[in-house]
Amino acid sequence: MWTAGLDWDDQLDEELVEKSREWFRELDELCCCIKIPRCLQLNEDIVLTSLHTFSDASQEAYGSVIYARHEYKSGMISTRFIAAKSRVAPLTSVSIPRLELMAAVLGLRLALSVKHALEVPDDNMTFWSDSMNVLYWIRGKSREYKPFVANRIGEVHTSSHPQQWRHVPTKVNPADLVSRGRTVEQLQSDVIWWNGPEFLQDEEPQWPDTNIQIENVRDTELKCQKKTSDKYTTLKSIHNNDLDWRLDPVRYSSVVRLVRVQAYVHRFIDNCRLKQKQRRQGSLSTVEYADVELDIIKNAQREAFSDEYNALMKSKDLPKTSKLLGLQPRIDENGLIRCDGRLENAEFLSFDARYPIILPRKNWVTKLIVKRYHELGKHVSGTNQTFSALSSRFWIISGREEIREYEHECYTCRKKKAKVAEQVMAPLPEIRFKTPLHAFARTAVDFGGPFITVQGRGKRRQKKILMSIYMFSVTRSAFGSSIWIRYGLIS
Ligand SMILES: [Zn+2]
Repeated sequence: MWTAGLDWDDQLDEELVEKSREWFRELDELCCCIKIPRCLQLNEDIVLTSLHTFSDASQEAYGSVIYARHEYKSGMISTRFIAAKSRVAPLTSVSIPRLELMAAVLGLRLALSVKHALEVPDDNMTFWSDSMNVLYWIRGKSREYKPFVANRIGEVHTSSHPQQWRHVPTKVNPADLVSRGRTVEQLQSDVIWWNGPEFLQDEEPQWPDTNIQIENVRDTELKCQKKTSDKYTTLKSIHNNDLDWRLDPVRYSSVVRLVRVQAYVHRFIDNCRLKQKQRRQGSLSTVEYADVELDIIKNAQREAFSDEYNALMKSKDLPKTSKLLGLQPRIDENGLIRCDGRLENAEFLSFDARYPIILPRKNWVTKLIVKRYHELGKHVSGTNQTFSALSSRFWIISGREEIREYEHECYTCRKKKAKVAEQVMAPLPEIRFKTPLHAFARTAVDFGGPFITVQGRGKRRQKKILMSIYMFSVTRSAFGSSIWIRYGLIS
């Protein structure tokens, strides 16, 4: 009624009147037809109590339902309905996988409150969803996704373990009823709703498998949720094979410029293939920049470590002469070779610092990156400081040598360290040689001073001295005399 834009006093049309009458009539029926037993267990010795939460979503609504499952000493198993919760789907259009995720989170919250009330241990909770997407997200890392998914997956990870989430076929998912709606009559006779799916009566090995097959995951949906994507990733695979579109790094002297130009090239290719409305314009986004940067580094790694790369892809041992042997290289989800050090548990460090990207020695891309960090240090940071700044993201083979090499090359540093040029003196004047060699045949005279000197004691003994120097111009030997000035007067 609200979406139809009706006000409090407005007349309802026929259809709405009928629907609401039906709804009120069913409310009355609820009281007499639906009875829920309060007792959750049989009168026997219990071995194990566990909670099973099912969630589901449709375009109209989403919701969850929880069952208590008891195993008894006699081998009996009982399941009882505990609680259910449903919500109508938002009016703004939200994709089904996202709604499924919202349902999963709703179920999680409800399960936590039930767990608290019944004092069931954490490990005895199982969550069921029929959405492969949701299960795939839950097994990933929240930071890889866009905020909507990341926030919810973050919540799921805080309160449950990914292994607790299992797949249930849609046919036997009781929460399906919540998402599609039922009349009271249908609800009353729904066995799955009141007792839970049949498989819960069996032992755990007989429960449905939770093999998450990536091919079952809706491809496009995943791609929209991954942070590094939007329309751009769908086209990314095309670039990877298009070697022709790669710029030659050697023609660039700045890594920032190289990345930016390459990113604009990628965008141009994308835009040529997209419709007018979908084309990207304006300045580069950080995602575009980061993707291209990683792509360039990846390429440099492939060139320098092709054998190692092939070995890693096939999970074989590295070649014995490989320079990466000591670094325990791994290939990450973007195809980059990273070190796998001993910092796995150092959660306070960034992912890049724990698993730095390996950069090859004597490679132009490496040099450009070293240059960038050297310049960020304003040419005054020493080798070690540059090295430590680089280490927060990269591991360069023989890193210090690589940095030192660049420091020797850096034009600004060379200018700064250069010595001042010395004046080349002219040949000595002729007069100094074309004269008789006997002493002081030709002399030059110079004066210096006044100098303050003290003879004897007391202030009155202070004297000023002027100096005259007579110099023999051939050997430059000199003698001097001083003119004494007493109390400022020439004597
Ligand atoms: Zn420099």
